[in-house]
Amino acid sequence: MNAQPTFNEKAPIRHDWTLDEIEALFALPLLDLVHRAQTVHRQYHDGAIQLASLLSIKTGGCAEDCHYCPQSAHFAKQTGLVKETQLDVDYVLGRAKLAKEAGATRFCMGAAWRSVRDGAEFDAVLDMVRGVRALNMEACVTLGMLQPHQAKRLAEAGLTSYNHNLDTSPEFYDEIISTRTYQDRLDTLALVRAENIGICCGGIIGMGEKQFDRASLIRELSKMTPHPDSVPINALVAVRGTPLEGRPPVDAFDMVRMIAVARITMPKSRVRLSAGRSEMSAEGQALCFMAGANSIFYGEKLLTTDNNDALADRELIEKLGLRPEVIEERSAHYDLDSNEQIADVSAAN
Ligand code: SF4
Repeated sequence: MNAQPTFNEKAPIRHDWTLDEIEALFALPLLDLVHRAQTVHRQYHDGAIQLASLLSIKTGGCAEDCHYCPQSAHFAKQTGLVKETQLDVDYVLGRAKLAKEAGATRFCMGAAWRSVRDGAEFDAVLDMVRGVRALNMEACVTLGMLQPHQAKRLAEAGLTSYNHNLDTSPEFYDEIISTRTYQDRLDTLALVRAENIGICCGGIIGMGEKQFDRASLIRELSKMTPHPDSVPINALVAVRGTPLEGRPPVDAFDMVRMIAVARITMPKSRVRLSAGRSEMSAEGQALCFMAGANSIFYGEKLLTTDNNDALADRELIEKLGLRPEVIEERSAHYDLDSNEQIADVSAAN
């Protein structure tokens, strides 16, 4: 493994992390790992935490069979989740405004689609993106697979970032999803990248994967050039009626390790402590921040599962002395491959 950088020596941005190196990071004593991640974190970040708000704009009835997801039509009978029609643009923008007033700087919108279809629903999503950007917030959507002209239209609407998670390792992927391939995911991400839209891409732990799979997922993410601008790390929320309903809860220290390894291997990305946070203690979350998490989903629901409420989040942020990122604090498309510190763009709003 490459020598560990010292406080004076900035960790290089690398895309050639090997599985052996990543597995060796996972094997470090926890506090050594957290110390190393915190060292890298301070070289590239100033301690601000981004608050992102997530809204399901079209819930349920998805044709994919992701085994963790209550929105899949394949498990609707067992989960009892009712398919809803798409929310209208004014309602969504009203929610975005409320999220901004509560301190969120990024508004993420999820539609349970296998892939985008041209037509009124997609046109409405484009209006939502334009409206969120007009609020001076970052706009992120997750809509499934895309065609090139659809990625182009999203870019023209001003989309900041497209969420499309790899979910797990290429080796374990078939255990979790059968209706699309790993390569399908990578192809969509390439289309998004080609339009210069930011990429939000991460995964889920606690689905029955081995330690190797977590390392392999990190390797896939860190190979991306540049690294994803945001890397959500999720703990499985085992929803009743889904094939993974019986999985045991994820140990908070496993989340800490995953976040720390993501931080070390992708120094400039925002690492987002995502699903499963509501099951973590304040102390567990504090360790995740120490390991390099610098973004959280903020608000009541994560698509269809419960999330910490905003008041509890604000109390935690205050107690830990964390500084919420302000809008436009950093440009959405800063250079993820540069070794330079993130420039302070402005401190508007
Ligand atoms: S594609 Fe998204 S909405 Fe559809 S089943 Fe998978 S995770 Fe759920």
